[in-house]
Amino acid sequence: MTFRTRFAPSPTGPLHLGHACSALLAHDLARAAGGDFLLRIEDIDQTRARPEWEDLICEDLAWLGVRWDGPVMRQSERMAHYGAALDALWSRGLLYPCTCTRRDIAAALSAPQEGADPRGGPDGPVYPGTCRPEVSHRVPASARPTDRHLRLDMSAALQVLKRANAADLTFTETGPAHGGQIALSHEACLSGIGDVVLARRDFGTSYHLSVVLDDAAQGISHVVRGEDLFDATPIHVVLQRLLTLPVPVYHHHRLIRDDSGKRLAKRDDARALRKFREDGLTPDDIRAMVGLPKTT
Ligand code: GLU
Repeated sequence: MTFRTRFAPSPTGPLHLGHACSALLAHDLARAAGGDFLLRIEDIDQTRARPEWEDLICEDLAWLGVRWDGPVMRQSERMAHYGAALDALWSRGLLYPCTCTRRDIAAALSAPQEGADPRGGPDGPVYPGTCRPEVSHRVPASARPTDRHLRLDMSAALQVLKRANAADLTFTETGPAHGGQIALSHEACLSGIGDVVLARRDFGTSYHLSVVLDDAAQGISHVVRGEDLFDATPIHVVLQRLLTLPVPVYHHHRLIRDDSGKRLAKRDDARALRKFREDGLTPDDIRAMVGLPKTT
C-alpha cells in the first residue's frame, strides 16, 4: 500500500506548535515511507475562513520545510460532493432534520426523566433524540431539506451496517496513547456518540462528513492528527462503512500543551509559528519543541 497522508488545517487563525507537530510528523512519515504528503484546506466555515490565513499557513509550512505533493484541496470547492453524499444518506432514511438549539438540548438533557448524567460525546452532549422521527422514514418522499441541521440516525445506521454485513467497526491506530486495533461496539456508538449532525444548516456539511469524503477522495492511507480528534474517529469509521469508503490507518499524536498544561488554541497567538519565526527561531528549534528529531 502506498503511504499517503495529509495535513488539513482550517484557515481560521495562525498555525501554532500543535499544527507544526501534525504537519512535520505527517511529512516525515510520508517521506520516510517514500509516500505522498498532501495539503487540504478545511474551509467549510466560510464565516471564519480567510485567504490571509491560508497564505500564512503556506508560508509557515514552507519555512518549516514541509512541501506538499500535488494541488491543494479546498473544502469550499467540494460542496457538490458533500451534497451528493448527504442526498444518498437522506434517500436511505439515515438522516433527519433537527431544529434543536444548544439550549433545547441542554434543557432536554437536564430533564429528570432523561437521567442524571448525560454523556458527553465528541461533539458535546449526546443528542437526546428530540427531533428523531418515531419510525425512520426509509425512503423519504421529500427532497433533503437544507434549511435545518441534518442528524445521522445512529441506530438506523448501525442496523443498515448489520444487514450489509459491514457491522465490524474496527480501525488500526498507531499513535502513542491507544496503539493497536480499536474495535468499536455498537453500544458505544449509540451511547457515546449518538445522532451527530452531518449537515449544519449554516455550512451545508459538517467536519465529520467532509473529512471522511475528502480523505477517501485524496486516497489517504494514513491519517496523522492530534489526539483531540481520537474520539471523533468512531464517527468517521461509521461513515466510511456506510458510504463504502476505505478506512485509513489512524495515528493520533500527543497534544502540545502550554506551560500550564492547557491545550494550545488558535487564539494563543504567543505560540503562533509566525511569532517564533519573527523571534529568530529555526525550524529545527520548532522540531525540538514538538519532540521531533532535527533534519539531517
Ligand atoms: N481541520 C482540523 C483542524 O484544523 C483537522 C482535521 C483532521 O486532521 O482530521 O483541527
